[in-house]
This record gives sequence, structure tokens and C-alpha cells, in this order.
Amino acid sequence: MISELVKSFQPYRVVERNYRIRLDKNESPYDLPDWVKEEIFEELSELNFNRYPHITSLPAREAIAEFYGLSPDNVAVGNGSDELLSYLVRLFEGNYIITTPPTFGMYSFYARLNGIPVVEVPLREDFTIDGEAIAKKAENARAIFIASPNNPTGNLQPEEEIVRVLETGRPVILDEAYAEFAGKSLWKLIEDYRNLVVLRTFSKALGMAGIRAGYMLAGEEVVDALYRIKSPFSVGIMTMTAVRVALRHADLMERRVRKIVEERERMRRKLGGLAYPSDANFLLVKLDAYEELLKRGIVVRKLSGRLEGHIRVTVGRRWENDAFLKAVREVASYVGGL
Ligand code: PMP
Repeated sequence: MISELVKSFQPYRVVERNYRIRLDKNESPYDLPDWVKEEIFEELSELNFNRYPHITSLPAREAIAEFYGLSPDNVAVGNGSDELLSYLVRLFEGNYIITTPPTFGMYSFYARLNGIPVVEVPLREDFTIDGEAIAKKAENARAIFIASPNNPTGNLQPEEEIVRVLETGRPVILDEAYAEFAGKSLWKLIEDYRNLVVLRTFSKALGMAGIRAGYMLAGEEVVDALYRIKSPFSVGIMTMTAVRVALRHADLMERRVRKIVEERERMRRKLGGLAYPSDANFLLVKLDAYEELLKRGIVVRKLSGRLEGHIRVTVGRRWENDAFLKAVREVASYVGGL
């Protein structure tokens, strides 16, 4: 009864919520302050719950557009950036998508789900993209997916390599979910490159993963196309209200990002040669310690394939990071790491 394609996918793995320290999903360790939540609740109480939300999420798009000094015609909002990815694999003409593994798994997930072939152009040894190699394979690509900073390796991609890919004229989805932690974004390039889509999210630096809000910045024709195929009411009034209020207090986020970056660098120093440099809110660590950490109540992300034997750890609160470092010291002492 169930299709073979669907059966080929693994069920989502639910890691028990009752572990003490959860550093596996690259969330922010900081919740919105109560007074910001109150502001959201107050605005919500004015809205009609019996009515559908705006069909193209205009209230949220207007707030985001104002934040960037763009027009709402350059902004699309989704139920998380994941939802937008599910459309972006389908939006453009071409035969296949290009991904650059090891990278975020949802690009190939949505492509496979839609029966779209995936052409892989692996990252170089230092985890940078090879713009020339991508360009050579780009001719019939529907879209090229590049994450910068990349998940799970943590590094920003060099601007000149991204520009090389943009010069092919093929659609490029630049996923900047972690850009705030790098202090660098290429979103302004949407003015020069009509083939560029920049994807951002409220789930990471803004500390709103539970709200489910992601957005893309792109040329008007791409945004218009997206709204022709998007599920009409997937972004509800609660999400849109949270987005509007949070953007009024974006300065709060800046302080939190600074703290997370400081912690990231402290952890990296303590991990010595085990951790790779990172421009994001997580570290790639060369240590096969997933099970041992779990035994100690710490959940991290176990990696596979080219990153077999590595884990990805989200930068948490200081006490969580200290517990992680202590556990790593114990584990590494008998694996022969630190
Ligand atoms: N892109 C990247 C690179 C990510 O790591 C994530 C979250 N893990 C997402 C997109 C999706 O984020 P969300 O759907 O919460 O906006």
C-alpha cells in the first residue's frame, strides 16, 4: 500500500526529550525574554482566530522587508525555511539539483521525495565549495544548493566561489541559516543576481525554532513563482505575530549571538585539535563519542559518510558546554584524543 519511494526513507529518529543536555539541533540556548513573549501575546489577543491567516503572509513579509530595506515582493515566508526548501527544489526548470556534501540533508531529501535526481559536487578537503567544479555540472541544473556557513562543517563559503557559481546563471539557493554567527551575509547580491535566492531563518540566532518561521530574499519573479505553488495557509497568525514582534527587538539577538560566539571559541580552544574552526553556533568534532555522551545525559548529532567518527555539537549555555567538555575529556582519554 505504501509507495516504495516513501518506504525508502528512514523514519524520523526521536531522541528522548528527557536527556539533561540537548546539543543536537543547533537551537539557540536562549528563549525569548518573558516581556517579548508578553508583547506577542498582547498582539495576538487582538487578532481573529476564526479567520485564515493572510494567504501570502503579507504581515510577516512587510516586517522582514522593512528590516532589510526591501519590498515585500522580494520576501517569501515559510513554516520554517524547511518548507521553502520543499518548493525550491521544484520551482525552476532543469533536470536535477546540485548539492555539495557533506551538507544539510533536506536538499536531497526534498529532491528525492519529488523524484528529482541529485548531482553531488563534494566539498574540498578544507570543506570549501569548488565553484569551478559546480559550474561544469550546472548546465541543466534546476537549482544549486549551497549552505554558508555550512551544516555540519560550520565554515562560511568563500564569496568568490559563490560568485563563480552565480555567474553560471543557474538558480542558486544560498542557505544562510547561520549567517548571524558568521557576521557576514551575501543577501545584497540579490540585487545583482536574479538567479540568487537567500534563505534565512528565525530558528537559530533569533531563538525561535519552536515558532517555525523561515524566509527567503529573492527577485520579484522568483517570489511570485513561489507563491503560485506554496501551501496557502502554512504560516499562521501566531508565527507572523512572533516574527513582527521579534524583529522590533533584533538588538537583543545581537548580544546573544556575541555570547554564543564567545562560548564557541572557548569550546574550540578547549577541544584543541579535535574541533574544526566554525562560523556557526556549533562545532564539528573529530571524536566518535555519540554513545558515550548519551550515557552521560548529553545529546549531540552523530555524523556518518565522509564524517563517520565525527559529532556535531551545538554551542549551549556555559554550564552545558562545560558538562560537554568534561565528558569529552573523559571519553577522549581512553580513545586517545586530548
Ligand atoms: N538550513 C540549514 C543549513 C539548517 O541547518 C536548518 C536547520 N537545521 C535549516 C535550514 C532549517 O531551519 P528551519 O526550518 O527551522 O528554518
